[in-house]
Amino acid sequence: MKKIIIAIDGYSSCGKSTLARQLAKTLNYHYVDTGAMYRAVTLYLIQNQIDFHHNEMVSNCLPQIKIAFGFDEITQTQITLLNGENVENEIRINPRVAGGVSDVSAQSEVRKFLVKQQQTLGQNKGIVMDGRDIGTVVFPSAELKLFITADPKIRAQRRLDELKEKNQNTSFEEVLANLEKRDYIDCNRADSPLMKAEDAIEIDNSFLSKEEQLNLVLTYIKGLAVNLS
Ligand code: C5P
Repeated sequence: MKKIIIAIDGYSSCGKSTLARQLAKTLNYHYVDTGAMYRAVTLYLIQNQIDFHHNEMVSNCLPQIKIAFGFDEITQTQITLLNGENVENEIRINPRVAGGVSDVSAQSEVRKFLVKQQQTLGQNKGIVMDGRDIGTVVFPSAELKLFITADPKIRAQRRLDELKEKNQNTSFEEVLANLEKRDYIDCNRADSPLMKAEDAIEIDNSFLSKEEQLNLVLTYIKGLAVNLS
């Protein structure tokens, strides 16, 4: 069976990364969380007190940013490394990262910088990549493209549950507002706005369990393998 590229796009907090992780594990593929890359760039700008909206200052610091993925043996999960430092937790819980990442990712220089690295990571296929522009820009010829949606209130509740598990004290309203703000900026930016690729399969997972969603996608993959072999 040939190895393929699976591109997963969709709105904030609609379970893309959970699905991507499950697929990577089932198929023995690599998983690339491109949102983590944009979050890591945002964290770097915060740490170095660089104004998110100052395009030139942001562009000038990109060569100093090295992003990599590692594996934490203790938690048995993938982690994000920013210049060699494990920033996995920080990029998920820091409200300034969540608040600024969509403004940072709207900048073309940032996108060029990360898209190039994402294309390199996928050049040997056997990869599941999730984000906002994977099926449209990063891998327009991916063999399987999925576009994931879910009701915003259900997404906000899922995100709130995740943050509570990490002992973060925030409200449903705050989480929903951040999610809707990010969706708006992501869908309306000039460069690579979030949109469904014409050939993507849309899945609304509002009322699907994680297992039901995985099984559904595996049926698509089985169908593809037949065509590809
Ligand atoms: O997926 P996650 O919610 O972690 O992504 C954080 C932010 O990074 C998104 O809201 C979006 O602004 C940006 N992003 C992007 N393109 C991608 C992945 C993420 O613009 N491929």
